[in-house]
Amino acid sequence: MSSELRDKQYDVIIIGAGFGGMYALHRLRKLGYRVRVLEAADGVGGTWYWNRYPGARCDVESLEYSYSFDDDLQQQWDWPERFSAQPDIEKYANHVADRFDLRKDIQFSTRIASAEFDNEEASWTIRSVDGDTFTSQYLVLAVGNLSLPRVPDFPGLNEFKGRWFHTGQWPKETVDFSGRTVGVIGTGSSGIQLIPIVAQQAKHLYVFQRTANYSVPAMNRPLAADVAAKHKAQYRTWRDNAKSTPFGIAGHAPPEKFAADDEFEQRRRLFEEKWETGGNISFLYAYKDLLTNEQANDMACDFVRDKIRGTVKDPSTAELLIPNDHPIGTKRLCLDTNYYETYNRDNVSLVNVRKAPIESVTVNGLRTTEAEYPLDDLIFATGYDAMTGAILDIDISVKGGARLEDAWRDGPKTYLGVMVNGFPNMSIITGPGSPSVKTNMISAIEQHVDWITDLVEHMSSKGKAKFQAQPDAQENWVQHVNEVADSTLYPKANSWYTGANIPGKPRVFMPYVAGLDKYRKICDDVAKDGYRGVTIE
Ligand SMILES: Cc1cc2nc3c(=O)[nH]c(=O)nc-3n(C[C@H](O)[C@H](O)[C@H](O)COP(=O)(O)OP(=O)(O)OC[C@H]3O[C@@H](n4cnc5c(N)ncnc54)[C@H](O)[C@@H]3O)c2cc1C
Repeated sequence: MSSELRDKQYDVIIIGAGFGGMYALHRLRKLGYRVRVLEAADGVGGTWYWNRYPGARCDVESLEYSYSFDDDLQQQWDWPERFSAQPDIEKYANHVADRFDLRKDIQFSTRIASAEFDNEEASWTIRSVDGDTFTSQYLVLAVGNLSLPRVPDFPGLNEFKGRWFHTGQWPKETVDFSGRTVGVIGTGSSGIQLIPIVAQQAKHLYVFQRTANYSVPAMNRPLAADVAAKHKAQYRTWRDNAKSTPFGIAGHAPPEKFAADDEFEQRRRLFEEKWETGGNISFLYAYKDLLTNEQANDMACDFVRDKIRGTVKDPSTAELLIPNDHPIGTKRLCLDTNYYETYNRDNVSLVNVRKAPIESVTVNGLRTTEAEYPLDDLIFATGYDAMTGAILDIDISVKGGARLEDAWRDGPKTYLGVMVNGFPNMSIITGPGSPSVKTNMISAIEQHVDWITDLVEHMSSKGKAKFQAQPDAQENWVQHVNEVADSTLYPKANSWYTGANIPGKPRVFMPYVAGLDKYRKICDDVAKDGYRGVTIE
């Protein structure tokens, strides 16, 4: 065997150097495993490396949307804002990489094309698009839930003379929109963050909206030193408390009342208080049945609709901005700074592309079935092939056997969101069937990595070579995930949680919405029970 080949043999290969891959590397390497991270980008941070668009920031407060695994790190790091912006989160990811000396085990600018498991050798062979080959006993997919950008397939994009961008692949250089006519397609979370900022620069901004989304104010502000100090004095308690909440966030007490417990005026006062507090969890925590009872949800929707009508001066624009096809919170509830106010500017026009759909991109702009809009720049804020996109973008197979793409043809099937029957020694961080995008994702990532690390340690201590999910355990889990979703209002929305934003993608509700607290307990019980539902041999 050549020394080059030997050098590329590892105990664990991790694909992705976002917060998931970075923490997995740290944990597994500390236990003595030979670990290699393979990352397509030339830097760490994942989401926060790619999403450099103006206005990109987190929607979980920074004091909570951060690693908890190292007390010195959380005590010494200072967040500048309540909801920090992309450059600061990327800086944090780089700090973590330096502090824990992670870079020496990360190979950047390496996009993985395929991974094949050999049952006889009990090892994975992983190939990059450039033909590099690596082998390892274990494969950890830390490829991200929202990391494969989706650009709609409009005819004519290649002929467009102007500049075009996707929010999830934003260039590193500053993009100046001054004096330019700009079009934004998409009014989900990224669009809602970006539109107010681009509007301040552009000569004219056209927002092409197919579906209106609910947004509540972030009430973002600099993080005051005394607020941070108070939080840090209790950091351990905060983190422990977060573990016993559904969203992995301690800052808001779970609600105790049902919406119908209050009279109309009391309810309005409470919604107003939540609105002024800012943040999506704050708002969704107004009442305990907002996401399970349609009438309760309608009450919250009415409140937000009135806010939109009260903010947007042109009544027809206001009506267009009012969502009418999904209960509030069943799609990711967006956070904004001056989103609705932006439509009062003379240089902003909202175009209804539900009524007059986009036909094509032209040499000079965009054509709908009703009109042509000349544009200098076109921004796609059209989201991702969520939760499964980046996994299935890698050709994952077993030698002489199954392909993941086929196994998931009717939608993703996993055990606990972590492993897939038929694909031994492969684990997914925040995979479909886990709480993932329905939580503070750094909490979910830490829980997953710790659980997977414990499993690898268990295997080593018993001298075992392979693990995989048992078929019946996987079937039961998939059924449980669906039953839980069906007991809520979530399936009522055509959202990326169900794959509805991708033409042809099977409609399956992908996240586990019982809450990170309940999920954590299930995972702990499975482990205590000798990894019930997992074949270890
Ligand atoms: C704009 C935006 C805002 C968000 N805000 C929040 C928030 O406020 N709170 C929250 O909880 N979550 C938020 N999220 C979700 C966010 O994705 C997670 O919080 C978290 O950053 C995910 O980390 P990760 O390591 O799992 O995945 P990612 O950060 O997506 O990292 C995955 C990495 O894998 C790499 N990769 C993928 N495929 C391959 C391949 N084939 N070969 C090599 N490398 C590959 C990618 O390049 C990427 O670097 C947000 C997401 C977006 C897009």
